[in-house]
Amino acid sequence: MSIAASNPAKVWLVGAGPGDPDLLTLRAARLVMNARLIVHDGLVDPAILAMARPGTRMISVAKSRSRHTMRQDEINALLVREAQAGTEVVRLKGGDPFVFGRGGEEAEVCRAAGVPVEVVPGVSAALGAAAAAQIPLTHRDSASIVSFVAGQCKGLTEQDWAGLAGKGRTLVIYMGVATSEAIAEKLIADGVAPDVAVAVIENATRADMRVLRGSLAGLAALVAKHKVQSPALIVIGEVAARNEIELRAVALEAAK
Ligand code: SAH
Repeated sequence: MSIAASNPAKVWLVGAGPGDPDLLTLRAARLVMNARLIVHDGLVDPAILAMARPGTRMISVAKSRSRHTMRQDEINALLVREAQAGTEVVRLKGGDPFVFGRGGEEAEVCRAAGVPVEVVPGVSAALGAAAAAQIPLTHRDSASIVSFVAGQCKGLTEQDWAGLAGKGRTLVIYMGVATSEAIAEKLIADGVAPDVAVAVIENATRADMRVLRGSLAGLAALVAKHKVQSPALIVIGEVAARNEIELRAVALEAAK
């Protein structure tokens, strides 16, 4: 075993939040600003990468639904290789590393290779989007349960989502834009009311954020009509209509 391999540097799995650099944790910001090597996903906002010192080595391992620049096992191998060679690695991921971020897989591979790993949480897209759109994920009058699901995954139709959406519940779907039609059909077949409120939040917390609203039955049409692009989240449940109702009430009051 080489000396470097017996004393590997650390891999930091760091959440970069949903976009706005102000939503980085202080720890994440410090790590980015002091990094020698940043390995980042496509979702990490360029403004965050711009916080790094000049000369920081940047490796993009951008993934998208149809295009993989680097396979997950190659990313894992890269992290381990760099750490074993003595380079501390800041592995930057959109949102939180442990929410649909494959952070769990990367942490396992590092631990198995004897590479120390530390995880820095980030503001997950659901939380950033909810705040930016002022859609409370829970509300004493509307929802006391909130679930996060991945809409693009192996065997979507076989997945049991029964009970995750409906009265008193909020369902947040990550990676669900491309499969929104199948998602709506699946939920309605499970007994969720077709007229339950939905909100689609695209580019949450970024300058080009859009919030679109409709009903579950109209979800696919809403996505198609507005040409919603990734990254976007779908929120299903009464909370999705809450501030819309308030805004309408305010407008009616003002019109009196
Ligand atoms: N680890 C990330 C999620 C990665 S999965 C997190 O915790 O947020 C990628 C999905 O996250 C996207 O397909 C989209 O559904 C969602 N997402 C990430 N950033 C987003 C943003 N700024 N606005 C809306 N959705 C976002």
